[in-house]
Amino acid sequence: MSDIQSLNSLAAAPVCELAPYLPGKPLEELEREYGIRDAIKLASNENPYELPAGVHKAIRAALDDVARYPDGACFALRAELAEHLQVAPERLTFGNGSNDVLVLLAETFLTPAVSAIYDQYSFVVYRLAVQATGAIARVARANPRDHEQPLGHNLDAMLALVDEQTRLVFIANPNNPTGTWLNREALYQFLRQLPRHVIAVFDEAYYEYASSHAGGDYPNALEWLDEFPNLVVTRTFSKAYGLAGLRVGYGVSSPDIAELLNRVRQPFNVNGLAQAAALAALSERDWVQRCCMENNAELERMTTGLQGAGISCVPSRGNFLLAEIPVAGACYEFLLRKGIIVRPVENYGLPGYLRLTIGTQAENDRLLDALAEYMDGNQ
Ligand code: PMP
Repeated sequence: MSDIQSLNSLAAAPVCELAPYLPGKPLEELEREYGIRDAIKLASNENPYELPAGVHKAIRAALDDVARYPDGACFALRAELAEHLQVAPERLTFGNGSNDVLVLLAETFLTPAVSAIYDQYSFVVYRLAVQATGAIARVARANPRDHEQPLGHNLDAMLALVDEQTRLVFIANPNNPTGTWLNREALYQFLRQLPRHVIAVFDEAYYEYASSHAGGDYPNALEWLDEFPNLVVTRTFSKAYGLAGLRVGYGVSSPDIAELLNRVRQPFNVNGLAQAAALAALSERDWVQRCCMENNAELERMTTGLQGAGISCVPSRGNFLLAEIPVAGACYEFLLRKGIIVRPVENYGLPGYLRLTIGTQAENDRLLDALAEYMDGNQ
């Protein structure tokens, strides 16, 4: 038996089955491998705009304290965010990105004896977090391609999977990688029908983009926390707030759920630079709003531009588009050679698509030109 085989036999059974998360290709890796300069990355749904000077200043000031552990309770950030969201501070749980909060939820509520529900095309971390606990994954079938929310969550299909053993149901609104979203009435009716022994996790990583979009009735799920003590809303500073690299996200829930999550989380799961940056970013509302407006305008422009090149996209309320592309693998390679990294989504069960992050206007133009060239050669 090789060493790796014998070590595998020592690992917890669910871990042996896990395939690691596949991140977007790093820029440096592309430049190294292809000998390319000035590559751009439109693969991980980050905010492409420069951070405001006030946030930089706060991060630099926090550097003076890195020899000490950070405030494990995130006191200052908690107070400011609670005020910003108009919720009680004890409803908040901070995480090393909202990813951390999703994992905490799985660790807190799942065992091999219970189950969790998520959509077949939803954010892949749900599957990883559920699988790592050994809980049963019940995967709901998504909407068909010709639905008004193509490949989006089908709430009825999710409800149909609920039973006595269900503990968590993950709903991404909007969803990654599809960009599809759910409206106020649909989500409210879902919560009303969901039994109280099931925790509803509404993942709103792209909340700021979706809520600043002109059309539709995208809800603020925080309004439902009092009525539904089994609701957890997760959000992040990684997207519209531009702090993906610092890792800070949060959950908003009943204080009882927050107290349970607090038992499981690492004592210092949000570092001091991240806390200082998030606190400073909260006072940059105009900047965040401008980023969202710019994104939403570019999202529209890209949808139309891609259509012109013969590429159809799933309607999106995030800062990315799921584009249907012939021979998506070859297109991904073609773009890499042009110095553009996008995201293949084969691992999501979507081999005929690429996920394109909305970048700056110049980045988007470069992607659009390259895709038009690819499509020209593939008609
Ligand atoms: N939820 C969704 C739907 C996401 O797309 C992401 C990031 N890609 C996350 C959660 C996690 O983001 P973070 O950990 O940076 O907050």
